[in-house]
Formats: sequence, C-alpha cells, structure tokens
Amino acid sequence: MPDTIDFAEARRTLETEAANLRASLGVPIEGPGQMTYGSQAAAATHVFEQQRDLALRDHERAQLALVEDALAQIEAGTYGTCSTCGRAIASERLLAIPWAATCIECARNPTR
Ligand SMILES: [Zn+2]
Repeated sequence: MPDTIDFAEARRTLETEAANLRASLGVPIEGPGQMTYGSQAAAATHVFEQQRDLALRDHERAQLALVEDALAQIEAGTYGTCSTCGRAIASERLLAIPWAATCIECARNPTR
C-alpha cells in the first residue's frame, strides 16, 4: 500500500492550527491584582484557575513549536520523516496528528 502524504492538505491543517494557537497565546491571562475575593476559598479557586491557564499555555507553546517545526519540514521537503529514527511516519498517523515529529514506534519507545 503506497504511503502517500498530502503535503498541501497537511500544510493547511498545520497553518490553521498555528493560527489558532497564536491567537490563543495572544490573549493575556488575567493576572493577580484584582483582589476582590470574598473568601479564601474563592482566592484558592482563582489561583488554581491561573495555574491551570498557565499549564495550558505551556502546552499551547509546546504545541505551536511542534506545528512550526512541521511547517518548516514541509518547506524543507522532509515532512513525514521520523526525527528520531529517520524512517517514514505512517500517513494515518500524520492524518491524525499532522505535527507528529516521530513515527509511532519511536513515540511508543522513546530511547534516550
Ligand atoms: Zn521513528
């Protein structure tokens, strides 16, 4: 079975994802300053939400880096090649995760 990757389609998906992530990261997180909590519980909830937002933002930054790497690989013509073992990444995997940098084997068995 030929393992063909639709570069144009992958690029569209990746560019849309990158735009969404940049838009999301461009929205400032509500910082400390407005101390209008009625109770410690409310304050704790607020801190929890901030931490969660920051964790989410870390995830989005990492995700954006992966998406940008994938776009650069499309430009370089190396898209779809596992960054760890150098073998082709299965097209089904790239369809499911267009920013996948490694093949399924390397994703399952990280060697370092
Ligand atoms: Zn691999």
